[in-house]
Amino acid sequence: MQLYYKSSRGADGRFTASEAIIRGIAEDGGLFVPNALPKFEMDYGKLKNKTYRETAYDVMSLFLDDFSEEELRGCIAKAYDNKFDTEAIAPLVRLDEKVSVLELFHGPTLAFKDMALSILPRFMQIARSKNNIEENIVILTATSGDTGKAALEGFADVEGVEIIVFFPVEGVSSVQKLQMVTQEGANTHVAGIIGNFDDAQTGVKRIFGDKEYAMDLKKKGYGLSSANSINIGRLVPQIVYYFYAYGQLMEQGTINEGEFVDFVVPTGNFGNILAGYYAKKMGLPVRHLVCASNENKVLADFFGSGTYDRNRSLKKTQSPSMDILVSSNLERLLYEASGTRKELVSEWMKSLEESGAYDTSVIFENLKGAFEAGWISDAEGSRLIEQVYRKYGYLMDTHTAVAYGVNEKRKGNDGKVHSVILSTASPYKFPKSVLSAIDGRFKDADEIDLLEKMSEYLKGEVPAAVKGIRDRKVMHNHICDKDGMKEAIDSFLEGRDSE
Ligand SMILES: *Cc1c(COP(=O)(O)O)cnc(C)c1O
Repeated sequence: MQLYYKSSRGADGRFTASEAIIRGIAEDGGLFVPNALPKFEMDYGKLKNKTYRETAYDVMSLFLDDFSEEELRGCIAKAYDNKFDTEAIAPLVRLDEKVSVLELFHGPTLAFKDMALSILPRFMQIARSKNNIEENIVILTATSGDTGKAALEGFADVEGVEIIVFFPVEGVSSVQKLQMVTQEGANTHVAGIIGNFDDAQTGVKRIFGDKEYAMDLKKKGYGLSSANSINIGRLVPQIVYYFYAYGQLMEQGTINEGEFVDFVVPTGNFGNILAGYYAKKMGLPVRHLVCASNENKVLADFFGSGTYDRNRSLKKTQSPSMDILVSSNLERLLYEASGTRKELVSEWMKSLEESGAYDTSVIFENLKGAFEAGWISDAEGSRLIEQVYRKYGYLMDTHTAVAYGVNEKRKGNDGKVHSVILSTASPYKFPKSVLSAIDGRFKDADEIDLLEKMSEYLKGEVPAAVKGIRDRKVMHNHICDKDGMKEAIDSFLEGRDSE
C-alpha cells in the first residue's frame, strides 16, 4: 500500500511525500501526517554494525515512498558525508552502565538541526522536479537560533530556492547570531525580529495561511515552503538516529537485542521527541520518551495535567533553542494519541489560537502513556555541567544538561532500563554558559574569546564552523518589527529579481 500524507486538521487532500515536502504545511494550517505509521519490519539485531547511511535508507524509504531507491540513496550520500566531522555521524558515548549520550552535533553548524537540514534541501530539489514545479521555492523559517543557521547552510546556493530566516534579535547567543549574519550565498536572507521566537514562529505561520499573499508571490514566480520541523521532510530524517542509537547500544554491549531503552530529549518545538515517538510506534523497543524542558516548562506542565497553557511570559534561559511556549509538533502527537481524531485536533488548535490554552482530558490517559516529562532551572543545569565534567571528564552543552538533569530527577528512572540522553548542541555553540558553569571567572569574558578556551577543555581544535567567526564579513543586517515580516520578504525577493 502506498503511504500518503494529509492534514492533521482534516482538510481534504492526499499528498505524496514529495508533495507534502514542497507544501510544508497543509492548507487549513494543519501539519502533514502519514495516513498510517509504517512498521519497521526488520530484525532489530540487524541494526548492529550498520552505517548511519544504511540505517537512514532503511528508515526513510518507509516514509518517502515516491522517491526511487537511487534518488533516496543519492540524497543520503550527499547529506551525510564529510560535512560531519565523524564517520559515525551521530556517535553514542557511554558515560556509565546507566547512561549514554547520543551526540547529534557533529554537522556543519554544531547543532542537531544539521541531522535533518543537511538532507532537506536534497529532498526539495528532487520533489521540485518530480512534481514539475517551475516556480522558485521560498523557504520561510523562524528560528530560536539553530534551525536558522542549519537551514542557511543547507540551502545556500541551492538552485530554485530562496532561504529566508527570521530570528529573535535578543533571543540568541552571540555565536548563534554571528553564524547567521555572516552566512554567504546570494539566495540567503536573514532578518532579526524585534520580539521572541514565538512572535517569529507565529508570524511565519500566519504568512503561510495568508492566501492573498500566496497569490501575490505566485504572480512573481514564487511558492512558499518551510524548513521548520512542521515540514515532514524535516521530521523523517530525525527518526533515523533513534534506530541508529539502538544499533550502537547493541554494538557497544550495553543492551541485548529487544531490550527496552528510554530516550531523554531536550525539547522545544517537540520535533525531535516526536520523531522518537514515531520510532516507538514503528516498533523500536522504547519504554519511555522523556520530554525535558527548561524554565519555560509549558510541556512539563502539559504532561502533568493534560492542559496546554501558553499564557505566561517567555523567559530567557541559557538554553535559548528551547525558549519556546508554543510547541508546533505537539499537534502531530495529539493527532496520533487521539486515534487520529482530526476534529478534536482542530478544536484544540482553535482554542490555542483564541485563548492560548486547550484541555486534552478526553484523551490524556492514552497520550501520557509513552511519555515522562520534567524541567530544570538554569542553576541546576550549570551545576550538572560541572558535576558531569568532574565525574566523567565529559563536557556537555546547556541544552544537553537539561536532559541530563531531568533524567536524574524523573520517577521512572528506576535503573531497569538504560537512558540515552540526546545531545543537541556542541558546547562550542554556547561557550560562555558552559565554561562559566565550571569556572566562575569566565562569567564576564567575551563569548567569542572563549572559543579558544573551550578547545583547551575539550582537547581539540576549534571547529571550522566557528573558527575565526568574528573576522567574517557581516552579510545580513535587516531588522524588522514582527508586523513587518511580509515587507522584509518582499524586499529580499525584489533584491533578487533586480540582479
Ligand atoms: C532545536 C533545538 C532543541 C529543541 O528541539 P525541538 O525539535 O524543537 O524540540 C533543543 N536543543 C537544541 C540545541 C536545539 O537546537
